[in-house]
Amino acid sequence: MSSRRRKPDWLKSQPPTGQRFADIKQTLRDRDLHTVCEEANCPNMGECWSGRDGPGTGPGTATFMLMGERCSRGCNFCDVATGGMEPLDPDEPENVAEAVGEIGLDYVVLTSVDRDDLDDGGAAHFAETIRECKQRNPGTLVEVLIPDFDGDEDAVRKIIDAEPDVIAHNVETVERLQWPVRDRRANYEQTLDVLEQVDRESDIYTKTSLMLGLGEYDHEIYRTLSDLREVGVDVVTFGQYLQPSRSHLDVFEYVHPDAFETWRQVAEVELGFLYCASGPMVRSSYKAGELFVDALVR
Ligand code: SF4
Ligand code: SF4
Repeated sequence: MSSRRRKPDWLKSQPPTGQRFADIKQTLRDRDLHTVCEEANCPNMGECWSGRDGPGTGPGTATFMLMGERCSRGCNFCDVATGGMEPLDPDEPENVAEAVGEIGLDYVVLTSVDRDDLDDGGAAHFAETIRECKQRNPGTLVEVLIPDFDGDEDAVRKIIDAEPDVIAHNVETVERLQWPVRDRRANYEQTLDVLEQVDRESDIYTKTSLMLGLGEYDHEIYRTLSDLREVGVDVVTFGQYLQPSRSHLDVFEYVHPDAFETWRQVAEVELGFLYCASGPMVRSSYKAGELFVDALVR
């Protein structure tokens, strides 16, 4: 069942509150750092930032945005501004790593805007941030959500060599809808190639994410899942696409929570993914620490 008009009740969430939430926000402001959690006004902040011990305690998961707030690409589902990128901040790797320790995160996700304007797409800067995070916070698991680096295998290798625990690269949608959903420089084949390279060249877990509600058919979702398994992807997530503003792509439909549950079962039981987080409010990094650790001990 789905609705194309009104946002359904299952997409409503409570704003996060509590001392821990306020403390994390303060640390980020003091260090002039940016998280996707805040910038996308993610509805999961209360859950992710608090971790498994419940609201107000911690540790938990947060997603840091590296290399600035402006992107060299312009995807039609994404609210990040395009063009006018700033030079890289050489202190960012250390600053992020210190913030992770100060906040006490047991799982951090590092992601970035696309920086096609830089020679290596920012891969060396990304890799340095991974190394700083791991060196300063040996108990913290590090997941990276990387760009496609425009197909540059050496850039992807820099990320692999920094040895994060999970490397994610999002396919975002089925093959037929890559354009108009993603920027024209991104494409399905290139995304599969990035994921395949990580699987071929390392033992690092791989992960990807799809948005539903963009007009995809079930057989296309199934084929995407099969393609992802074929290149060795371990973890997949599904979430509802929400239109950030009127100038972005329309929501085609609000997918019912039962359909998300069906896709979770298909992914985990039928196709053998290590785990699948799937639900209307799920984002690629949704409770990533908890779900990853639970899946490893299952
Ligand atoms: Fe947004 Fe990433 Fe697309 Fe840039 S490449 S517009 S950050 S989704
Ligand atoms: Fe942050 Fe991702 Fe959790 Fe949203 S889902 S609060 S972006 S870690």
